[in-house]
Amino acid sequence: MKLFVWIETYNGGAVPSSWEALGAAQELASAGKAEVTALVFGARAREIAQEARGYGAQRAIICEDDSLQQYSLESYAALLSRLVTEQRPQAVLAVATTRGRELLASSAVDCACGILSESLALRLEGGRIVATRQAYAGKVLQDISALSMTSFITIRSRAFPAGTASTAALAVDLALPARDAAPPPRVLEFRPAESQVSLSDAAIIVSGGRGMANNPAPAPSDLSGEDAAIWKAQQGFQQTLAPLAQLLGAALGASRAAVDAGYIDYEHQVGQTGKAVSPDLYIACGISGAIQHQAGMRNSKVIVAINKDAAAPIFQLARYGIVGDLYEVVPALRAALEQQLQG
Ligand code: FAD
Repeated sequence: MKLFVWIETYNGGAVPSSWEALGAAQELASAGKAEVTALVFGARAREIAQEARGYGAQRAIICEDDSLQQYSLESYAALLSRLVTEQRPQAVLAVATTRGRELLASSAVDCACGILSESLALRLEGGRIVATRQAYAGKVLQDISALSMTSFITIRSRAFPAGTASTAALAVDLALPARDAAPPPRVLEFRPAESQVSLSDAAIIVSGGRGMANNPAPAPSDLSGEDAAIWKAQQGFQQTLAPLAQLLGAALGASRAAVDAGYIDYEHQVGQTGKAVSPDLYIACGISGAIQHQAGMRNSKVIVAINKDAAAPIFQLARYGIVGDLYEVVPALRAALEQQLQG
């Protein structure tokens, strides 16, 4: 059995969550006799392939052609599809990042194969790969498998541990680019996003909801009504949640209600129409726990809820719940944590 793992790269380095895709392949490989092959395309592919050995790759197929120096869907999918058609692996895995999703979906169509998307667990059953994933906004888990020779599999970020080092030397094969691919776009520069921690990769997330608007701090006298509520909520995110997030090395999340009301940008939204996250710790502040919010965060390992309303649905999901005003609880929590860290 051959398992291909696409190693996503950015600006000449591997995207660290790709090691989780190697970990997922390693889990499958240990269930059946399989070889894990890292596919690395673009700048520094050879060095990145060697790095991939540290996370379980036994073999690598690399292509450093000029046309692949920067990621482009057309040229990457053309090469991936050709490798799959020629070598017929049992699976191609990647993390369900924006690029991982579009690349595997596109190549799966080219190869007329099935795709198992956003997988949370993988197993072998009668020689077939079965993936477990969420459906109906996380209300049910479903097991799916593809009927095609090759299964294209995207895994949810942080659902699998990174792979462990392969003991054997890495066998490296060179691939030629697909010459019939469209000419790649030219990337002029990379500009890192301004937000400090990426939600998808964060081990800890501190999230705020509509309750952030109940900030007791007085709004400037020239603001009233809705404008005053927005100002108070924005201040709440910046002055109350962000310091706790910073102390914990956490990313800042939000409910859709908070985003729609203009309290914080969309890039922070967690849920069905935002980001799906699986941190070790998710602290929900002033969030009721609507099913669409749960769809994005119910896989968090430990959930802490802070809410004034003891009947809020978020408490049914939370391992720890604090019934109280977030504007009293969060500063107290921060002060206690600061004391712990100093002690
Ligand atoms: P509310 O439900 O209004 O809850 C606010 C909570 O704050 C209440 O429980 C209240 O008790 C508490 N509170 C108020 N003041 C305080 C205080 N001072 N201290 C402590 N607690 C306080 N929602 C998402 O989050 N993400 C999505 O991706 C998403 N996608 C959607 C897609 C569709 C198709 C639809 C129809 C809806 C979607 N929603 C999504 C919206 C979702 O249904 C809810 O409306 C939303 O999650 C509610 O956000 P909230 O919990 O912040 O607000």
